[in-house]
Amino acid sequence: MSQVEHRAERSFAIKGTLVFTAQRDQFTIMENAYLVCEGKKVAGAYDTLPDQYRQIDVLDMGGKFVIPGTCDIHVHASQASFQGIGQNIENGQWNTWFDRYAFPDESRFNDIAYAEQAYTRFAESLLATPTTRLCAYATTSREATEILMKVLAKYGFAGYVGKVNMDRNSSPGLLETTRETIAQTRLWLEETKNGIGAIYPILTPRYFPSCTESCLQQLGQLAEEYHVPVQSHLSEGLDEIDWVRELAPDLDYYAQAYDRAGLLGSQTQAVMAHCVFSSPEEVETLKKRNVLVAHCPQSNMNSCGCAAPIMDYLDAGIKVGLGTDVGGGNTLNMFRTMFEAILASKVFWASKNSARNMDQRKVLSLPNAFYLATKGGGVLWKSGSFEPGYCFDAVIL
Ligand code: FE
Repeated sequence: MSQVEHRAERSFAIKGTLVFTAQRDQFTIMENAYLVCEGKKVAGAYDTLPDQYRQIDVLDMGGKFVIPGTCDIHVHASQASFQGIGQNIENGQWNTWFDRYAFPDESRFNDIAYAEQAYTRFAESLLATPTTRLCAYATTSREATEILMKVLAKYGFAGYVGKVNMDRNSSPGLLETTRETIAQTRLWLEETKNGIGAIYPILTPRYFPSCTESCLQQLGQLAEEYHVPVQSHLSEGLDEIDWVRELAPDLDYYAQAYDRAGLLGSQTQAVMAHCVFSSPEEVETLKKRNVLVAHCPQSNMNSCGCAAPIMDYLDAGIKVGLGTDVGGGNTLNMFRTMFEAILASKVFWASKNSARNMDQRKVLSLPNAFYLATKGGGVLWKSGSFEPGYCFDAVIL
């Protein structure tokens, strides 16, 4: 697998079998066709090369498939070193996984040499996948977050990276005071607001139980001041929802904690991972605030054996993309994630209905899953399709 990077400045074309999903229900497949790139954007996909492009270079890939780069919109770069470990979470308690695996390992990124090495390995692993764009979590360390941004830019990736905020319910080495976490976030935004290569900052309160309301409020102000998007976790597990209710009994539903801090504002694009157990009111908010749901099927099945109601979200007009959620998930490969999204939708349907007479309109088809992995998550950048004007992210298989 090789990647033609989004950095190409001059016009050129790739000849091959183009496969993409302009619509979510069907593949567009063009054999022996030309995909023309003009100034980093797709100029068009053509069966024969139009006259005005006669002079441009053509990279003839023969019968190879050419697909849009996949967008992994929920991945913890800092957990890649232990992906696949601890999948049998003790007593079904997600928190024990944090205490045993995630927090101790994430605190190691305070050591810059370790961060450099681990993030380089992460980027190298990602090169072996069809992913060209991502929304990644680093750790609470500002310095290490900037290292991740530089490493991803160096390897030609595009997307967002977040310095994680945690000012409660964390562990030594990661826990910051509210004042520290906001000051470090502001400094980081100042240093990276213009991007490092094609990697930009995204505000990343880990999730409500690890961020005080004061922290969320101040992050909401930063989102508005710097016009940066926001990513977090939402309604991933029932224990988590109980905990949220305990921490803030006045909330009508979980997402309200982010919404009242201005983190789901219509001016701020929010990416919320999971949404497995969202209440009807919460689903209404996802729609009203134009939130992008990061569906992480493998991670959901690992953590609670459940799946999110993705077809319902799509039918309701809610935006959805796919995430690997490494290390809750154990692969960076978005092809695996597409496959698991299909399985998860079938398991979800059967759990709500019956194992007989599956309604094929209510489970993900292959083009549906491909769409979510490319154009669905790509809505953040106008990428993931070969329609004119889309970012030219092409992967040759
Ligand atoms: Fe996650």
